Amino acid sequence: MYQVKHGRDFTFPGYEPNYPKVADYKLEHVKVEVYIYFDDRRIEGYVTLTLSALKDNLMHVDLDAKDMTILKVEKDKEELKYDYDGSRLTVHLDRPLQRGKTIDIHVSYEAKPKKGLYFVLPGDTPDVKVYQVWSQGESEENSYWIPLYDYPNNKCTSEVIAHVPKGFIAVSNGELVEKSEEGKWSVWHWKMDVPHSTYLIDLAAGDFEVVEEKMDNVKLEYYVPRGWKDYIPRSFSRTADILKFYGDYTGVPYPYTRYAQICVDEFIFGGMENTTATILTTRTLHDEIAHMDFESEYLVAHEAAHQWFGDLVTTKDWSNIWLNESFATYFEALYTRHWKGEEEFTYEMIQNFDAYLKEYSTRYSRPIVTRVFQIPIEMFDAHSYPKGAVVLHTLKNIIGEDNFKKAVKLYLERFKFNVADTEDLRKVFEEVVKKDLEWFFDQFVYNAGHPVLNVSTKWDNDSKMLTINIKQKQGDDSLDIYKFPIEVEFQYKDGKKERKTIQLSEKSQSIYVPLKEKPEFVYIDPEFKAIKVLNLEYDVETLIKLLKSEYVYYRVLAARTLPKFKSRKVVDALKDALINEKFWGAAAEMATALGKINLTEAMEALLEAEKSVKHPKVRRAIMSALGNYKEEKVAEVLAKVLADDKESYYVRTNAAISLGKTKWPKAYETLMKYIDVPSHTYTITRGVLNGLGELGTEEALQTILEYTDKKKPTYVRAGAAQALGKFPDKKTAQDKLIELLNDENLFVKLASVNSVKITMDPRYLPVLDSLANTDIFDRTRRAAKEVARYIRKNIEKGVEYKKLLEELDKMREEHRKLFDNMLKLEAKGVI
Ligand SMILES: [Zn+2]
Repeated sequence: MYQVKHGRDFTFPGYEPNYPKVADYKLEHVKVEVYIYFDDRRIEGYVTLTLSALKDNLMHVDLDAKDMTILKVEKDKEELKYDYDGSRLTVHLDRPLQRGKTIDIHVSYEAKPKKGLYFVLPGDTPDVKVYQVWSQGESEENSYWIPLYDYPNNKCTSEVIAHVPKGFIAVSNGELVEKSEEGKWSVWHWKMDVPHSTYLIDLAAGDFEVVEEKMDNVKLEYYVPRGWKDYIPRSFSRTADILKFYGDYTGVPYPYTRYAQICVDEFIFGGMENTTATILTTRTLHDEIAHMDFESEYLVAHEAAHQWFGDLVTTKDWSNIWLNESFATYFEALYTRHWKGEEEFTYEMIQNFDAYLKEYSTRYSRPIVTRVFQIPIEMFDAHSYPKGAVVLHTLKNIIGEDNFKKAVKLYLERFKFNVADTEDLRKVFEEVVKKDLEWFFDQFVYNAGHPVLNVSTKWDNDSKMLTINIKQKQGDDSLDIYKFPIEVEFQYKDGKKERKTIQLSEKSQSIYVPLKEKPEFVYIDPEFKAIKVLNLEYDVETLIKLLKSEYVYYRVLAARTLPKFKSRKVVDALKDALINEKFWGAAAEMATALGKINLTEAMEALLEAEKSVKHPKVRRAIMSALGNYKEEKVAEVLAKVLADDKESYYVRTNAAISLGKTKWPKAYETLMKYIDVPSHTYTITRGVLNGLGELGTEEALQTILEYTDKKKPTYVRAGAAQALGKFPDKKTAQDKLIELLNDENLFVKLASVNSVKITMDPRYLPVLDSLANTDIFDRTRRAAKEVARYIRKNIEKGVEYKKLLEELDKMREEHRKLFDNMLKLEAKGVI
């Protein structure tokens, strides 16, 4: 691999390269017996580790064991000497072990895990009604509850024998060997008899309900905390279809005999793909109203894809984590295509690229595969997930889908029950296409950045020649010149089309194409098959026509490009396109464009569209767009939508946020009527809090402060913490944020760090620095470090930030009025 562009702002001083862990033994089998003491949030454990020496005269074995009390280490009933420093347990063997020879080591221990295994007890938050304990092994955290080898590059079989209070259910990987009762305990014995990486070992136990079904010979199970059983079908009914689709697409059927999905409260991620036993957040469970515009399938499909990409074949180290995450993200999108069609798929890929671009423009850039990081969690970002998915999509389109499928199958078959890195993947793909692919992996995987193409066209009627000018305008953190093929389509007035593939290879390139007549449209990559930012330097007439293009990518591009042309004609075109658009994704983009255009006509257009547009995801965008117009009649519509319980929760949420932005005199009392309306994931409450933040008044602040209370649900507290960022000059807000930065709850902490970023206030630096160095949660450490650096960089303008925003806002309003007047004059023929 040839790396010339390392990116920007991803690393910090002191960061060093990480290489895969090297051990002198192989862990073959883990058998852990664990007793769960809920009320003490404590476990007792007995683990048997079967391991074989990878060298002669092995004298000691290093195990990962974090924050435990080690009681005893034995071999064949004989006690062994050991050293323990709180994270590494070094076991001294009584006699040297020769290469290839196997031993069993038994460790007795106790732990009150701070990570890795999480106790969630009734009353911890208002949402938790029943006892639960669940694990989260990735990245290196299973060693907080089991002494073992805690790194992905070792695969072993595993057994979990969980002792839980009688009547409780315990779930883990593999097959249920036995369930028995022992005194006050229910004992669940699970066995995984094919090898997997140790971070994929899991345990979820508690007062669960379960529903089971069969898919051919695979047993499907769904577990939820007691009380949620009726919600199971709405979230999980497509599970079998998803697993079958992946089996068909990859040519590798679901690799295990069972697939369980376990929903738990207060889970710290969306889901975790533990082998055969995925753990998911209960936040994916939802009622009929939420189902209008919320679906669990994206999460279910992502985690299910990991059973192949991540579990069957696992990244060798965290540097190559995209091998797990990009594939899961891309296969999730491929399932969308299978389920909902091409437009949904293309739009999901556009949104994947948007998610990466947001990280790229607001935080940092890095190569998808990089060795330089400090904590593994830093690699789980929008480069590893959505950017990697767009890169796989590009690769698929370059080599063709048949070759892509063949290569994926070969990759899965060759590395199954084993680990792989990016070079392994590249070589498999090269073997299938019989061509070198280093040029592709170097540009898009091993270097930071992405192509930015500015495109314009010119038609010469005399010579019947079309000139396409393509300039590569990417930033300094990207390669100077990208070389890759791209499709171009010419469409004529009579609807006939021609497609060509052109090779991009220069900084500034003019391509001359002789055509029989002037094409109506020139489409560069009409279907978003290649990773790139595309800036269309087309005239306004063409862009307006493109709003009704047959290609969703171009409808989206046109909607994103048009707001810079402020005219009644553009507004009318956007309005017409929005009202008639069949696909919600493109319609939402048109609504967003009308929000950006900042003309009274655009506001009127949104108000009119609001009356007829039904799709809740488009209505969400209309509500957000209306927030750019501070007019009473806008506020009244937003208030009406917020009040309407026939609207989706998420539409009402966006209406609440925008209502705050209008600063309408009645906004506070209106928002307060809905602050406690029940909704999926408390989205309306969070929307109201966000709206109160936008409103920015003293009474709004008081309410937000109340909603940070520990008696409120986690998501509500996090929403309130987020809204506090809107009050940088209020001491009460600042004091509360400092308190919340030290909260126990991960989500509250992360929201507080984000809030601090908005304020850009240097007074938070001491607490951010302390979080960055010592916080228990890896994600908080990374976020605090980044925000502290951000504030330091902006230290001069920081305190003035809010004033700057207010001034911008005022300018925007004045600008709009000015333009409105100009348009009126224009209409009267004065100018
Ligand atoms: Zn994932």
